[in-house]
Amino acid sequence: MNDYYAVLGVAHNASQEEIKKAYRRLARKLHPDVNPGVEAEEEFKRVSQAYEVLSDPDKRRSFDRGSDPFASGGGAGFGAGAGFSFSDVMDAFFGAGSAAGTRGPRSRVQRGQDALVRLDIDLSKAVFGSEEELTLDTAVGCSTCGGDGAQPGTGRQTCAICHGVGEIQQVQRSFLGQVMTSRPCVACQGYGSVLSDPCHDCAGDGRVRTRRTIKLKVPAGVDTGTRIQLAGEGEVGPGNGPAGDLYVEIRVAAHETFTRRGDDLHCTVELPMAAAALGTTVKLSTFDGMEDLDIRPGTQSGDVTTLRGLGVTHLRHGGRGDLIVHAAVQTPTRLTEEQEDLLREFAALRGEERPEGRLTPNKGLFGKVRDAFKQK
Ligand code: ZN
Repeated sequence: MNDYYAVLGVAHNASQEEIKKAYRRLARKLHPDVNPGVEAEEEFKRVSQAYEVLSDPDKRRSFDRGSDPFASGGGAGFGAGAGFSFSDVMDAFFGAGSAAGTRGPRSRVQRGQDALVRLDIDLSKAVFGSEEELTLDTAVGCSTCGGDGAQPGTGRQTCAICHGVGEIQQVQRSFLGQVMTSRPCVACQGYGSVLSDPCHDCAGDGRVRTRRTIKLKVPAGVDTGTRIQLAGEGEVGPGNGPAGDLYVEIRVAAHETFTRRGDDLHCTVELPMAAAALGTTVKLSTFDGMEDLDIRPGTQSGDVTTLRGLGVTHLRHGGRGDLIVHAAVQTPTRLTEEQEDLLREFAALRGEERPEGRLTPNKGLFGKVRDAFKQK
């Protein structure tokens, strides 16, 4: 088994900082840019593997307990797709783009940014989906210059400072030896050319802001926080570059009577005491129109009736949630004399004129199971 501590040349109780330092030192020495050759490359891999294990507290702990994450077949072999590449390592330590290399002048044409807008809809639209019109303020290509940035009839001149390269190169000394660094040319911002007369409408940007209206199909089942992505409907990029995407974030307004939980809808129906006792059928206004709801005799406050498939459409697959109706039994108030007499007579018949004030037992596990059977 490899001794990763020995590979990095650190003590077994080395701190994370010491491990990192040791690795940096070795990586600089062995990096293929500095030290070409198969041997150095193999050594660099070994060192990087050791670092990968020891820099990760979990992997280090299991290594300390005697298991080598690279030894077993399940281990992530270095260079076999897992782990990191040489350039990743160098980027992490020395900053991306540190390696010398010519990139040429920057293009005036760049991809545009994504845009985010919010859309408020009501619950019925979330249930069934809808067609919406959105008014957007985004950058679009400039029609005066066609995105070119030059006032029509004028052109560009090669930058006199960088001679069209777009960057100024400098030679610097560093621990890797002499390093060529390059910076974007300040005179032309790296474009390599300058506009002799920038477009009067877009000031050379190649795009202008404008208001436009688009149609949006909101799928059934969306909820507050759902984002709909519209490819290419975001901001047009500089130089009339390809547009970014538009994200529409949905916010579903609270409904007066229906509450959404997942894809189920919940509502509460008021039942007069006598109707709850005797059972009846009530008309219920749902998103699918009027529905008959059967109230069985002896319905209590809090009893639920489920209307299958009248909830919100599932966003990712077919079908719909349920509509769950909670009963709220209403005790009559402001009785007429005749009603009061009848109720007293009723109470007398049931021996309920002076109820005991019996306390309801807490529902333990068995109570819940019993209730579950009662619902069937
Ligand atoms: Zn223009």
